Formats: sequence, structure tokens, C-alpha cells
Amino acid sequence: MTKTHLGHTARKRFGQNFLKDELVIDRILNAIAPTNDDVLIEIGPGLGALTEPMCERVEALTVIELDRDLAERLRHHPFHHQKLTVIEQDAMRFDFGQLSQERQSKLRVFGNLPYNISTPLMFHLFSHQDAIVDMHFMLQKEVVDRLAATPGSKHYGRLSVMAQYYCDVIPVLTVPPGAFVPPPKVNSAVVKLVPHTQAPVSLNQVEHLDKVCKAAFGQRRKTIRNSLKDFVSEAELSALGIDAGLRAEKLSLQDFATIANTINES
Ligand code: SAM
Repeated sequence: MTKTHLGHTARKRFGQNFLKDELVIDRILNAIAPTNDDVLIEIGPGLGALTEPMCERVEALTVIELDRDLAERLRHHPFHHQKLTVIEQDAMRFDFGQLSQERQSKLRVFGNLPYNISTPLMFHLFSHQDAIVDMHFMLQKEVVDRLAATPGSKHYGRLSVMAQYYCDVIPVLTVPPGAFVPPPKVNSAVVKLVPHTQAPVSLNQVEHLDKVCKAAFGQRRKTIRNSLKDFVSEAELSALGIDAGLRAEKLSLQDFATIANTINES
């Protein structure tokens, strides 16, 4: 158990690693470059490391925090009522689409995410991508590497293909463990995700893309002739102009989409 500089005991189950490095905090705020027209939403404000400086720059900020003690603490913050709206809820269950409708604006979402749920949380946000202008997240560096990876790289996988279907992925900065209390075991990185206003590839069903990626990268040492044989025959691959002798790591988003579109609903 680690007591932070602000007297709160960090809870592992909520993925609590609090930012303390002022330079890193400043660089994140500068990357977000908020304006007063933005509807800003922070996920996991914690002890307010990003919340407070953000409130100094803008008129309004809404935060979503699951930890009851931290939410209560934020309700006593001088910025509460004046600028800060605190929602005590699980961000994984939060309806970002509804909030965007209520505010009559798309959202700008940011946060130093709890690493234990960062991937499902991003997919939850991707499902609300029409409601979002952009997202800035602190994640494990390895996750950022996977989000941004291109075909042929060792980090390229299902997360790369799916994330890049939804968003432009822009790595912003790498952050060492010493920037946090308690320090995480791994390096971290900030990434900017910008949902596409127009899908980069045409898809019949996004679930089919995910199924194909799961199968292909689940057996990444195999050629797609074998790993994807339940979805598509070698003859079909050849007719689509895709080499059946390739492994998943060499296929582009367009290749995966082309294969996904051969799946029929039955
Ligand atoms: N933003 C703070 C900072 O940078 O110091 C805290 C970041 S800490 C890595 C993650 C925060 O997310 C914690 O405050 C934690 O309680 C909160 N959290 C964890 N799971 C959550 C969830 N499902 N929904 C909303 N907040 C969550």
C-alpha cells in the first residue's frame, strides 16, 4: 500500500498511479490544447493532477471517477460547482453518446487511465466514436506501441487493426515510472486518438473484422491459409488478390476488411 503525497492510499484494484511530474502534466495539457468551446471530459481524475491545471485553463470540466473517496474529495475541491462537475461512476458503463447529446456538442476526452482496464475502456469509447472529437490517454507504453503499429512491426496485432479502423493514432510522449506515485512497473506513454469522420475502409460488420483479427493473430505464426480457413478458402483469398502464404502481421487494415466482408450472416 502506498500513501501518496496527498495522504490518499493508492488502490491497486482501481489502477491508481498518480501523476506527480509537473513537466509531464504541463506537456499533456499543452498536447490537449483546450479551449473554452470544448466539452472536456476526464476519466479517472484521482487526486486531480490533471484536473486542477485543466480547471485553471478552462471554464468547465466534467470528471468521471469510480473511487467513492476520490469522488468525494473532488466534490470538496474549490473548483467544484464553479467549474467542475463530478460524476461518480464506472467509465466502462458511462453513456458518452448521451452526454454528448445533452451538451449538444462532441466531447474531448482525456485521462491517465487505470491500466488494468485501459483496452476494454478504449473499445467502449470507440463504440461512442461519433460523440467524440478526440481522446488523449496515458497508457502503458507497450499498449501505445501496439495501437500505433503498422504491418510488419512486432507490435502489430488485433489492437492495431481495430484501433486504426476507428481512429487516427498519434503517439505524443513517453513517460518514465518516476513520474507517478506509486511508480508503475513499466514505461508509460501518452497517445492522441482522433476518431475518423469517415471510415478508412468499407465494412459490412465491424464484428466480422474483429473475428478475423482474433483468428489471424491468435495463431500469428501460421499462414492465413491455415489460421483463416474457417472464414475464407485459399481460392477465395487468391480471387481477392491476397496471398494465402502470408502471416497476419503482413496484412493491412484493407486486407482484413476485404476478408471480413466475405463472411456471410447465417
Ligand atoms: N488522473 C489521476 C492522475 O493522473 O494522477 C489518476 C490516474 S490513476 C492511473 C486512474 C484513476 O482512474 C484513479 O483515480 C482510479 O480511481 C480511476 N478509475 C479506476 N477505474 C475506473 C473506472 N472504471 N471508471 C472511472 N474511473 C476509474
